[in-house]
Amino acid sequence: MSIQEIIDKAHGEQRVVLTEIEAKQILSAVGIPCTETFLAATRDDAVARAEAIGFPVVLKICSHQITHKSDAGGVKVSLKSRDEVAAAYDAIMAAAGEKFPQARLDGVSVQRMAGHGVEIIMGMIKDPNFGPVLMFGLGGVLVEVLKDVAFRIVPLEAADAAAMTSEIQGKKLLEGYRGQDPADIPFLQEMLLKLSAFVEKTPGIEEIDMNPVFAYKEGAVVVDARIILSSR
Ligand code: ADP
Ligand code: MG
Repeated sequence: MSIQEIIDKAHGEQRVVLTEIEAKQILSAVGIPCTETFLAATRDDAVARAEAIGFPVVLKICSHQITHKSDAGGVKVSLKSRDEVAAAYDAIMAAAGEKFPQARLDGVSVQRMAGHGVEIIMGMIKDPNFGPVLMFGLGGVLVEVLKDVAFRIVPLEAADAAAMTSEIQGKKLLEGYRGQDPADIPFLQEMLLKLSAFVEKTPGIEEIDMNPVFAYKEGAVVVDARIILSSR
């Protein structure tokens, strides 16, 4: 499906929240790398998908009504076998059904387990005065507490992206701290520019949240994404 088809489908179903799978399809289409993520509507589907992807995999609840998946017991990582995937499917569906009895559960999403990198958050919010604004920061517990994020108004130029990655307080973590690999900073800046270009030419998006992005010595990958549309 094209970006517009995904957006139109959501509006057609009277919803503004895209699923993780839809959000990643859109971001991938504009050149932002995401873990390829598939819907599995049954336990058998989930097992078959996992085998096709190759272990280890991650399973997550797939429902438009559940945006904070871990809070609903809806994320299981490092699944290494058919049995673990089958058990995770049952556990996720049971936990989500219990926590959100009214929610429509589409099943689970299945994706490869990404190697750990420097945890980044990237996104877009709409400021009532300035319009779309991009956000960049370090992810993880530390930053949830410190709120160490940089903002720039769309459209971004290369110099803005460079400023965003260098002005966060946790910059040292990006540059490789205590033996950890440095993050591919030019690649992250490129992702910000792609996000800006996408936001600029696509009205009707209220919010984009990529949390986390794993950044590596070479490249980076979005492992969780959320997009909220403006209501029509
Ligand atoms: P939530 O809706 O709770 O934010 P996430 O999709 O972010 O759910 O998953 C929770 C956590 O699980 C992430 O912060 C990340 O640490 C881990 N995780 C999720 N997807 C993957 C993946 N594909 N590979 C590795 N770790 C992952
Ligand atoms: Mg997340």
